[in-house]
Amino acid sequence: ATPMSIMTATGRGAQAGVLIKNAEALERFAKVDILIVDKTGTLTVGKPKLVAVLPAAGHDEDEVLRLAASLERGSEHPLAEAIVSGAEERGVSLTKADAFEAITGKGVKGEVDGKAVALGNAKLLEELGVDARRDMDEANRRRDQGETVMFVLIGSEIAGLVSVADPVKDSTPAALKALHSQGLRIVMATGDNERTARAVAGQLGIDEIRADVLPADKARIVKELQAAGHKVAMAGDGVNDAPALAQADVGIAMGTGADVAIESAGFTLVKGDLTGIVRARKLSVATMRNIR
Ligand code: ADP
Ligand code: MG
Repeated sequence: ATPMSIMTATGRGAQAGVLIKNAEALERFAKVDILIVDKTGTLTVGKPKLVAVLPAAGHDEDEVLRLAASLERGSEHPLAEAIVSGAEERGVSLTKADAFEAITGKGVKGEVDGKAVALGNAKLLEELGVDARRDMDEANRRRDQGETVMFVLIGSEIAGLVSVADPVKDSTPAALKALHSQGLRIVMATGDNERTARAVAGQLGIDEIRADVLPADKARIVKELQAAGHKVAMAGDGVNDAPALAQADVGIAMGTGADVAIESAGFTLVKGDLTGIVRARKLSVATMRNIR
């Protein structure tokens, strides 16, 4: 494309809240045939709220929440924020955790009041050798509503479940529909559970779901699709998404997301609204048409 046509697109993009950092990304977007979207913070609002604390038999609801939230104070994950705010709203007072450790893509562990406490997903249970079959039905009922369920462990005993919900952004359904009608195949990639991912994907017209992926897997999914001859755009907001954004032919960061995601992407959607992707694609097509 000519410098002039790129400048025009950059100006139009900026007016619409689409920052184009990288002229090559603008040129490549017209050829993209697959869009990978992260779930949390990209399709959804990204501010999960605590919706349920379900103690196991013999455990107290507030105590389960106190342990979970005391531990999560050490984490910067959006799920951690949901649990800490949920505890504060319920007036549960927290204690300082020791030996805090984040386990990427799985959860957190540490000590609260001298007790070993851990909180996270099924992968965390697997890593710690804990059997959760008894609690799976309740967890699955919640996941089928699109909620993210975490298990709270004291030692190797499941003390309860905590569940958070993160609604889909109002702008997401129409944006995905428009992208679909532009001929893009849409793949959701998420570190969250498969059932939760399916429930959220529900009516969004998502063609394929890759769930339970670890952060490194997202970049690998991009590479796989590229190796199969596809041109891939990736939209995400998290620190976890940065390698995939950098690997994609076109990386699209939410302006509301992590700085490292923004740095890794060719496009930034200022408002974090997927309508910006529709706009970016149109600008790319127009720019490339101008040079022919
Ligand atoms: P994503 O942002 O795509 O959901 P992550 O890799 O950040 O992916 O998280 C994947 C899963 O790991 C979460 O859905 C959750 O089950 C678990 N997890 C990660 N961090 C935490 C945390 N601080 N507390 C509880 N669970 C966590
Ligand atoms: Mg995210």
